[in-house]
Amino acid sequence: MPKGREVIKVINTNHRIEFDPEKCVGCQQCYKACFVDVIRWDAENRKPIFQYVEDCERCFFCEFMCRRDAIRVIPDYSSEHLMQSFDGCR
Ligand code: SF4
Ligand code: SF4
Repeated sequence: MPKGREVIKVINTNHRIEFDPEKCVGCQQCYKACFVDVIRWDAENRKPIFQYVEDCERCFFCEFMCRRDAIRVIPDYSSEHLMQSFDGCR
């Protein structure tokens, strides 16, 4: 095994995000909050588009930032495999 840090990360994509367009007021807070660009912006309809859910890091920041309770981030804990090994960090 090479020296230094090795990271192994397996993400199951059975994860989902629920969005209620009726509650959304188009404030863009979720769009600005998402640091991995899962959320894109539909300027015409003033609504978020959850474009790349498979890239979601399950940080819940979009859900936290939505004051209208329009977003639910729902990880699939039963099938998720998240493995990380940090070699050389001891
Ligand atoms: S933060 Fe909530 S209300 Fe604001 S745009 Fe996103 S979903 Fe809509
Ligand atoms: S949970 Fe985090 S990574 Fe996933 S869509 Fe929301 S802000 Fe983006």
